[in-house]
Amino acid sequence: MLTVRDLKVHFPITKGVFFDRVVGAVRAVDGVDLTIPDGATLGLVGESGCGKSTVGKAILRLVPLTSGTVRFDDVELSALHGEALRTARRKVQMIFQDPYASLDPRQNVESILAEPIRTHALRKGAAIDTRVVELLDSVGLPRTAAGRYPHEFSGGQRQRIGIARALAAEPSLIIADEPVSALDVSIQAQVVNLLADLQEQLDLTYLFISHDLAIVRHIADDVAVMYLGGIVETTSAELLYTRPLHPYTLALLSAVPIPDPIVEDTRRRTVLEGDLPSPANPPSGCRFHTRCVYVRDRCVTERPELREVEPGHMAACHFAEEIAVSISPRPAVDQRP
Ligand code: SF4
Repeated sequence: MLTVRDLKVHFPITKGVFFDRVVGAVRAVDGVDLTIPDGATLGLVGESGCGKSTVGKAILRLVPLTSGTVRFDDVELSALHGEALRTARRKVQMIFQDPYASLDPRQNVESILAEPIRTHALRKGAAIDTRVVELLDSVGLPRTAAGRYPHEFSGGQRQRIGIARALAAEPSLIIADEPVSALDVSIQAQVVNLLADLQEQLDLTYLFISHDLAIVRHIADDVAVMYLGGIVETTSAELLYTRPLHPYTLALLSAVPIPDPIVEDTRRRTVLEGDLPSPANPPSGCRFHTRCVYVRDRCVTERPELREVEPGHMAACHFAEEIAVSISPRPAVDQRP
């Protein structure tokens, strides 16, 4: 199980000609709690710039943590350093948004896949070649792909190489950061289905980061919605998509098409106005109050805690109960894959 508690990642803002002075901080992640049981998928969704990718990097300790704890398989990743951290990281691998940028163009696929196997001493000699073939098979690439270079593949094939490279280290947890956003819609479905199949075969746990709620619905067991560095709603995928409680989630779902054209034409939309405020200077009280259609005086001064509004359904809104009774249950969103 992955447990993240009160995770904060603040990047200092410095000023000065000769000596840097810290004059503020960008609160990219500001008190995030997450739990992912073994073999499950948590979808982490939100607009670009809300801090969701930073959460993924912080779990892997690719960015320094300001405070908080990250625990996976009884190992406190947030307390490890040096060789101990490197060893523990093998169990947690990342799949990146841009498969081309994340692959070394000078290495062929065989070398890309063999590198993590050698680095973590998982196989020796000819067994490495056998493992490379196994990895290519598992992501649906031909064995002849081993001798080719990343530029010789399409975007979807490159993402398959990225997935194979993540699997090469034999991880238990995969952090997939917008893994299909850069791909054509038809290819997105194939890659999401591949990830779902691999999860079943290898008993993997996923943190699936995306801005696309339709994709997340297809793969996630639970979903956490993030806004300006914090989680504003979290529950099962089923509940989130049919009975959202937070105005921000309502607005995000409003932008997702519904397959039934009659429902699509007649439904009431909550349009999200304005840009995401700066995490260096977040709004007072509820951070969503500058864009919320349900805003009241209390929202400007008092920050709502993430609390259980109904069994298994947490939301950070003072008026979640009232909002819940005022909205009709939402039909299923587009299930693209
Ligand atoms: Fe909107 Fe107020 Fe709820 Fe924040 S606390 S989401 S501003 S209604």
